[in-house]
Amino acid sequence: MTTPKKPVNPLLLNEYLQTLRLPTMLRESPAVSRECTATDAPYETFLERLAEREVQARQSKAIERRLQAAHFPAPKELAEFDFSAVPQLNKRRVLELARGEFLAEKANVILLGAPGVGKTHVAIGLAREACRRGHRVRFFTASGLVHEYLEAREERRILRLEASIARTDLIVVDELGYLPLDKTGAEHLFGFFSRCYEQTSLIVTTNLPFADWPQTFANDARLAGALIDRLTHRIHVVEMCGESYRLRQSLHPTSSPTKTKPSDVKAKSSSKTPEPPASRRAS
Ligand code: ADP
Ligand code: MG
Repeated sequence: MTTPKKPVNPLLLNEYLQTLRLPTMLRESPAVSRECTATDAPYETFLERLAEREVQARQSKAIERRLQAAHFPAPKELAEFDFSAVPQLNKRRVLELARGEFLAEKANVILLGAPGVGKTHVAIGLAREACRRGHRVRFFTASGLVHEYLEAREERRILRLEASIARTDLIVVDELGYLPLDKTGAEHLFGFFSRCYEQTSLIVTTNLPFADWPQTFANDARLAGALIDRLTHRIHVVEMCGESYRLRQSLHPTSSPTKTKPSDVKAKSSSKTPEPPASRRAS
């Protein structure tokens, strides 16, 4: 004689799942239950499928949180980047960097090139990939970062700012060299680079050759030299020579970027290609 089956109390199950904070299991359990009954799947399969959905939902929420916390100015993705528009750029190398091994080495990436070639786009694309791989990321423009330091100093929370920098795995410093800094700004940025040295990886974008960095850092060649030394100790230099994508789009909005004649662009583009120190240039 078999013992009669106790009827399932769905309200009680819902309450347990709520108490255990398993919202996806709670939402999905009726559908997974129907699925498993229809295919006569064992109990373990039912539990495994539910647990899998809970884990997947948590992982994608965590990625979303990291992407939000990074404060990217625009959701640029490497998948949307037209590598054919920058033929000198080694796509394979960029995709290798996207795997994030440089983060484990606490190495830095510098994206060098004239305005409009896609440095910010690639920097954001690499950083978003790092978020997806579980890293904590923060995006700043160089001037925004200096502003952050000045504000923190005024509000006596420099230590808190530095603690939050120390908890970050990757920081993007965009547009270094676009605006010259005064002495205080240069010193804060130097402090920032020193703090990150071998602790937090950086992706720096710049249009300036290293020889011109003293101009940006309040004409202080010693400080600029010390900063370059820290930044380039472990570095992957990505040179992005080419014409401004923006400019090409506005000159030829309907044509493919690769069809643009270089002469169309050169007339307006005056930026020179930056020169990293040859000894530190990654191939
Ligand atoms: P930079 O930082 O070098 O000045 P950006 O990354 O800001 O250039 O690029 C300017 C605009 O052109 C952005 O909207 C960017 O998404 C787009 N862009 C630049 N290069 C490319 C490319 N090769 N493929 C797709 N979009 C590009
Ligand atoms: Mg930019």
